[in-house]
Amino acid sequence: MKLANLRVAGQKVVALVDSDSETFWSIGALVPGFSGDMVQLVQQYPDLKADLKPKTSGTPLSGAEVLAPIDQPRRNIFCVGKNYHEHAAEFQNSGFDSSAQNGEHAPEAPVLFTKPASAIIGPGEKIPRHTSVTSQLDYEAELGVVIGKAGRNISKANAMDHVFGYTVINDFTARDLQKLHRQWFLGKSLDGFCPMGPYVVTADEVDGQNIDVKCWVNGELRQNSNTSQLIFDIPTLIETLSAGIELQPGDVIATGTPAGVGIGFTPPRFLQKGDVVRIEIENVGVLENEVGE
Ligand code: MG
Repeated sequence: MKLANLRVAGQKVVALVDSDSETFWSIGALVPGFSGDMVQLVQQYPDLKADLKPKTSGTPLSGAEVLAPIDQPRRNIFCVGKNYHEHAAEFQNSGFDSSAQNGEHAPEAPVLFTKPASAIIGPGEKIPRHTSVTSQLDYEAELGVVIGKAGRNISKANAMDHVFGYTVINDFTARDLQKLHRQWFLGKSLDGFCPMGPYVVTADEVDGQNIDVKCWVNGELRQNSNTSQLIFDIPTLIETLSAGIELQPGDVIATGTPAGVGIGFTPPRFLQKGDVVRIEIENVGVLENEVGE
């Protein structure tokens, strides 16, 4: 099932979208009385699932604005740094990684940080450049895992039962701020630095542990990997986080980016105004954003 957060005639609507992304049905029309957002849909999904079957022909998606699918998460987006071997190496070698220990090739435990909800923007929205504080903008294509079932102390063996679905995230980063402030929060949390979407695709339709993650900048393929290459896989991330933080429906985990980011090049290739970042995750969707003013 493909779900979207839309703006239709000025109103925000959570909707079911057909597999070709041409038609939508508002959840409120399929389930009379439902008027919640995506997080509330995820919370109530076990009870509503049977009713999410269109009986009419639906409405053309072209008449709606597609927003970030979870634009108001109840807390920060959980993020994982240096979670692909080749990216961990390129980051270490770039000189931008003030978190690495000398000679470190891969972290011994997941590197976790968060991005605030205020950083989230939708597909097609322009990413602000924040020229007063940064001149080193970079992209990071990542699979976003959406938690469905709440849980604490979730074991790896049971972890995938807690996954509701998947989305696409660009963990946009100001490398100069990331380096200067050592902790990554600021450099990854400026307004507009979390493009997300266009959809949440439910876990029954996607093998999140074995899907291609690709990223192009102005049509040039820069990142090309597969989530099977994660250093810490999705069950490990869920086990690690939930050991001390109860995961909640609608929580989002950005699982890390593969090699090929701008600082992986010599010299680094930072993004400029007008550059277009296109991220495609197999069976999940295509997220495209231009760098704006
Ligand atoms: Mg990242």
